[in-house]
Amino acid sequence: MAIKKILQYPEDEKLLRQKSLAVQKVDKRIRKLVRDLKDTLEDSFGAGLAAPQIGVHERVALVKFGQEAEGGMREPITLINPQILSAGPDEKGFDGCLSIPGVVTWDTLRPSPLVFSALDERGETFQMEVSGIDARVVHHEIDHLDGILFLDRVKDFNKVYRSVETDEGEKLISLASLKAKIEKEIFKTTPMENFLTKT
Ligand SMILES: [Zn+2]
Repeated sequence: MAIKKILQYPEDEKLLRQKSLAVQKVDKRIRKLVRDLKDTLEDSFGAGLAAPQIGVHERVALVKFGQEAEGGMREPITLINPQILSAGPDEKGFDGCLSIPGVVTWDTLRPSPLVFSALDERGETFQMEVSGIDARVVHHEIDHLDGILFLDRVKDFNKVYRSVETDEGEKLISLASLKAKIEKEIFKTTPMENFLTKT
């Protein structure tokens, strides 16, 4: 078992933004990386995990399909050097990330359906067609391999939510109103006049 630390945004932004290199040969070293990714994903609540999220900049990712299907999420599938072969129209939908915990949106655009190819753990090429949330997970993980975070695809931060502990339990508050609230708190304790030069 090797559960790795999942890099976090914004602390580890530099590493998360680094582009990953193609795998030249699916060997023992890559299979060890896949095992580490599996152990790490198993230990979290994610539907996918990419190697750069554990600090390894090689084009390897795991995806779990079926999160909205009957029977729930299935065992992870390994994608080595994944490539999009064809993509349908962009659709708005859910995004969340193990590297950006507690932040979610239902407003990012990603294509569906998606036809992709990749190598498996034995180095064999396979091809699949996925749609809806499964297509979003594949697209999100390929983004990680290119150093792209889901926040980069957000157009309106009123539609990005942070889970916040309140007296009535956990609540989702939009990032925009959270910012307004924090500003209000700051100005409540330190009146605006205090920031102004007295003449
Ligand atoms: Zn992610």
